[in-house]
Amino acid sequence: MLIVKIAIDGPAGAGKSTIARLVAKQLGLRYLDTGAMYRAVTLAALQRGVSCADEEALLRVATSMDLEIVFDSETKSNLIYLDGQDVTAQIRQPRVNANVSLVSSHKKIREYIVALQKEIARQGRIVMDGRDIGTVVMPDADWKIFLEASVEERARRRQRELKRNGHDVELLELAEQIRQRDHLDSTREVSPLRKADDAIEVDTTHLTIEQVVDKVLSIVKGDERDV
Ligand code: C5P
Repeated sequence: MLIVKIAIDGPAGAGKSTIARLVAKQLGLRYLDTGAMYRAVTLAALQRGVSCADEEALLRVATSMDLEIVFDSETKSNLIYLDGQDVTAQIRQPRVNANVSLVSSHKKIREYIVALQKEIARQGRIVMDGRDIGTVVMPDADWKIFLEASVEERARRRQRELKRNGHDVELLELAEQIRQRDHLDSTREVSPLRKADDAIEVDTTHLTIEQVVDKVLSIVKGDERDV
């Protein structure tokens, strides 16, 4: 079986999920949004009144919750079910945004979630997006892409995404949240956000979604390996 693994990493709002999903669709691969898994743990903790600073209690939440990720082969999007309930929209709520970086900074939570992700990656034919895919989850990925964009542009994208889900949030507030999240994600002790040495960086600040997808596809297809 041909194992094809594409890792897409980068900071919040760099366009990872959108790009990874479209690249997966074009290449007929599966797609996994790894951030959604940390978001599901965060939502479960908030629902159960568990402190996002309490590592042991969070691990109990993570190991006892029933997390199901459904790959929609048509749209390539991921539907997230928590204890049998579709929480795909709920995991994007501002209260989850505000707590997810803290939850994902705990070593035991990362170990637990990364093991699940490695298991999903093992079969290959997948595009995964996250922060540590090229460095930790799929260090053996065939292609590693690191997406970047300015804080201002990322805040604008987040604002549009939240608006689509019915939340109006000020741009300045979002930029500040993004800066905080970047700081937490890149300074945490366990697998911080970092570009893998062999990753190709793509700055998406002034590019449209289509342009970024084309760029990633040309990187993958320009290679002599076949997908
Ligand atoms: O990608 P998204 O913004 O949905 O991720 C939510 C949060 O989950 C990130 O801010 C980061 O703290 C964490 N995360 C991570 N490792 C990943 C994916 C996401 O730490 N592979």
